[in-house]
Amino acid sequence: MTKELMQQAARNLKKAVPLMLKHQIPTTPTNYALWYAYVGEQTPALNKQLDIIVEQYQTCPPVNSELLYREFVSDPVELDVIDMRQNLEAMATELSQSLKDTNLDATQFQTRIDSNFDKLNRIEEEGVSLEKVLGLVRNLVKESDDIRSSTEFFTGQLSKAQQEIEALKLQLKQSEKDVLFDALTGILNRRAFDDDFKGILNQSPDGTCLILVDIDHFKAFNDNYGHQLGDQVLKAVAKRLSEACRDGVKIYRYGGEEFAVLLPNNQLRTARHLAEAMRRSLEKVSLKDRRKDTRINNITASFGVAQWQPSMTHAQLIEQADKLLYEAKRLGRNRVMPISS
Ligand code: GH3
Ligand code: MG
Ligand code: MG
Repeated sequence: MTKELMQQAARNLKKAVPLMLKHQIPTTPTNYALWYAYVGEQTPALNKQLDIIVEQYQTCPPVNSELLYREFVSDPVELDVIDMRQNLEAMATELSQSLKDTNLDATQFQTRIDSNFDKLNRIEEEGVSLEKVLGLVRNLVKESDDIRSSTEFFTGQLSKAQQEIEALKLQLKQSEKDVLFDALTGILNRRAFDDDFKGILNQSPDGTCLILVDIDHFKAFNDNYGHQLGDQVLKAVAKRLSEACRDGVKIYRYGGEEFAVLLPNNQLRTARHLAEAMRRSLEKVSLKDRRKDTRINNITASFGVAQWQPSMTHAQLIEQADKLLYEAKRLGRNRVMPISS
């Protein structure tokens, strides 16, 4: 990353935060990314829409933020994680620049700062971890102890930067988390599934079982009781299915009303039994629909269970589970396929 880019990132950061405060925007990773994009002025349509919303509401309501974020801020990983890392670098660079600007006569001190500064500059090429970046910044702060007495202003600046960096680090952690979890149900999302699935099959594929779950006639819940109730059903199903997952078994929201369960290192029979237990447990879910004052207790799902075989690709294993799931639907739903193993 060039120095210019770092300075730009620092400038954007400095512009975004006060704007968010002014408009009372909560400092969530989404909002942070959104306002960062706003001050970057790279997307005129985003700026225009955001201006209109702020004029109308004197703030940007969470739903509008989320919609703008989805429309304009394409890849959350890219913005939240990469940009924040760039911001950290930018801040650290600026910090060491201000150290240089203080015109201190301690040349030894200057050398140490320069060495930290050089390390920071290598971050981009070598893909140094965030921890290391923070370590370097901490070093800079520590070095400043040597001259604390000479400039109080200067240490004040350092600790302020340090605080900003800690806050960014927290946001970064949160955004890394957000990237892997589904906002509606709180369980792991498709991205997490793709990562985990590839990881398992590349490292220790033996015995890996995959269960694909699809809620039966889910569209009817939406059509008969509204989308909100549909969401409640999804949450309840995700909760119930999660409760059945133990011992390294993980569940993911695979698509709209579809879930995937990964069992590393297992037997097809065990996976089938788990699917069967999940199926029965879903039959017992009961939800209250407040608007129509009725209970919904006809939630069922169909299951396809497959086991990895030597030389199978990721796609082939998914395809097999999907085929069995389709078979379960065709045979009347609310069942697990294959019938026995
Ligand atoms: P089948 O038994 O064959 O699976 O029928 P189905 O109705 O479950 O399947 P279909 O694929 O026809 O419909 C799935 C519906 O799920 C369509 C879509 O509108 C709805 N859906 C997807 N994601 C969400 C969501 O997050 N919330 C709500 N409420 N509905 C969703
Ligand atoms: Mg479906
Ligand atoms: Mg369905």
